[in-house]
Amino acid sequence: MRRIISPVVLSIAVGTVIAAQTPASPTARLLVDLIRVDTSNPPGNEAKLAELLAPRFRELGFQVDIVPTPEAAKAHFFARLKGDGSKRPILLAAHADVVGVEKEKWTVDPFEGVVKDGYVFGRGALDFKGGLAVFAEAVMMLARNKVPLARDVIFLAEADEEGRPLNTSWLAQNGHWDKMDCEFALNEGGWIIKDASGRVKYVSISTADKSAVTLLLTARGTSTHSSMPRPDNAIFRLSKALAKLADYDTKPQLTPATRQFFQTLAKTSEPPMSQYFRDLVESKDPKVIARADKEISKDPLLHAIMRNTIAPVILNSGFRTNVIPGSAEATINFRTIPGTDPEELIKEVQAVIDDPAIEVTMTGGAQARAYAAAGRTMKPSPEDNELYRALVSQAKAVFPTAEVTPYLFQAGTDAGAWRSRGVPVYGIYPYPIDADDLSRMHGNDERVSIQSLDQGTKMIYETLVKVAGKPGT
Ligand SMILES: [Zn+2]
Repeated sequence: MRRIISPVVLSIAVGTVIAAQTPASPTARLLVDLIRVDTSNPPGNEAKLAELLAPRFRELGFQVDIVPTPEAAKAHFFARLKGDGSKRPILLAAHADVVGVEKEKWTVDPFEGVVKDGYVFGRGALDFKGGLAVFAEAVMMLARNKVPLARDVIFLAEADEEGRPLNTSWLAQNGHWDKMDCEFALNEGGWIIKDASGRVKYVSISTADKSAVTLLLTARGTSTHSSMPRPDNAIFRLSKALAKLADYDTKPQLTPATRQFFQTLAKTSEPPMSQYFRDLVESKDPKVIARADKEISKDPLLHAIMRNTIAPVILNSGFRTNVIPGSAEATINFRTIPGTDPEELIKEVQAVIDDPAIEVTMTGGAQARAYAAAGRTMKPSPEDNELYRALVSQAKAVFPTAEVTPYLFQAGTDAGAWRSRGVPVYGIYPYPIDADDLSRMHGNDERVSIQSLDQGTKMIYETLVKVAGKPGT
């Protein structure tokens, strides 16, 4: 059926489209185009994004390579700008897929790329199409400005980061390592945080990611008629165990990067928070540390980066009203500090629930075990190489008010494909954001400011000139 569009609706629609095409910033314009390709994962559709990028990079002299995966809609996109080979390549990785949306909760179309009030709105604006646009624009600027290069610069738009298993680990393990091998890489990770007045307080560059372990708690009891309950009820037993876990929190474990991060927060915060940050890092008094932990942990992000977190995610038991089920299960997702031994974590959980009748096992099969094992042994990326130093100096140049610190990223990213092979990876969401922007990530009305996109593009471009440009450029 043909739809009749009233003149009012038509003029609104045209207005929106015109607004979305007008940002003067090339990075913002690219981001609008990227948002308009819906790459919600599942299914991802990253191959469509690769088609959009390919001609733009080819035109500038990049060698383009699109790697299909066993799922036709998912593809990885490589664009390589050749250097003279005197140094090993640098790689910039950005995932092209995004998480889905609850469209009815958005005030704008999440896949229209609406530009409003100095922001680009849309799914992925922050995570991570904004970063993809910044990285892509920065490397294309190298080509446009004909910067003489001492090393290849590789841009990678990744598939399946939000989903797995066809992500960068799949790429590395399926004959494509030569395309992604490099001296060091940039990826998503740390933050450029500004306060309400727009002043950038700090830049955190992630040098490691947290890992994950998922445990299954199983309580068993007699399966019988619900008219004759017994003391060994599986659901009650599991509930008691969960109540104990709910009242428990793991101890803070500060990695060297997390220590530096909290020291930076001590410098950039007002009292009394500045003192709590200092106490957490410097005090030897368990009471003082516990008080600091309690105050700091009111912020879920800060709570998460200093400890193994405990999140019940799935409950499963029972199937009808007149049957007492013989078992009850809870799935608990732990995000772990690098170095955590999953077996030790199981023992810790068993001690807390203090009920030998509850089985505690790891879920997820071989892949999850391998991931947890890698998280145990993976070393953070060093702070003494050319790329890290250039990131710090360019962050300070573009954001003179900011402190710069290494950072343990609170979640997982696709950096493991490189870090597990000893290649340093540094993570950053390359645009200043405030607390309001951050709360929209994976949420509704996700947005990034155009000024932030331009500042980030400058920071990354200057970093690349320094690290990949021939001496004297
Ligand atoms: Zn992401």
